Amino acid sequence: MSATRTNYWAELGLDVALGLLLVAEGWRRHAGGPLVALLALGLGLFAFSFIEYFFHRWMFHTRVPLFEQGHRTHHEQPLGYDSLPFFLPAAVLLVLAGVFALIMPTGFALLMAGAITFGYVVYGLSHFIIHHVRFKQPLLRRWAGAHHVHHYHPGSNFGVTTPLWDVLLGTRYVRQPRKS
Ligand SMILES: [Zn+2]
Ligand SMILES: [Zn+2]
Repeated sequence: MSATRTNYWAELGLDVALGLLLVAEGWRRHAGGPLVALLALGLGLFAFSFIEYFFHRWMFHTRVPLFEQGHRTHHEQPLGYDSLPFFLPAAVLLVLAGVFALIMPTGFALLMAGAITFGYVVYGLSHFIIHHVRFKQPLLRRWAGAHHVHHYHPGSNFGVTTPLWDVLLGTRYVRQPRKS
């Protein structure tokens, strides 16, 4: 784990660069037309929404050593810069792109991996903004509020960018009616 700002922003920069590279290269090699390319990007984003939920619920909040410890630090210091070593997510995403390319057409695989990479970037930025910005707009307040609730009730609201999987898998926080 690393807690420096440099590591944090270096990771973001590297991930953006990797996402751009994957999408550009995927588009260059893609032979299926724009609609199929859009499908690949959409599938990638959808897949990422589950990856986000899966890691937060079953890796960060269970006993996987590196993840659990790092995430505990975040729960204790939500404004900190704790994150994985800057090169690690990009390395994992690159391996994922390679695995995809083995089982589907290369262009489609790279586009999908690129979308997953951008999903991860959006997740990282969203999480940062949620903790560093106070929203006035009601919808944004609700969106950010769901994650703040997670910090008080770590057994619910695992999705940061979207509540989709919390709703589907029954972990969306429901306020208990106050006992009078
Ligand atoms: Zn948080
Ligand atoms: Zn958490």
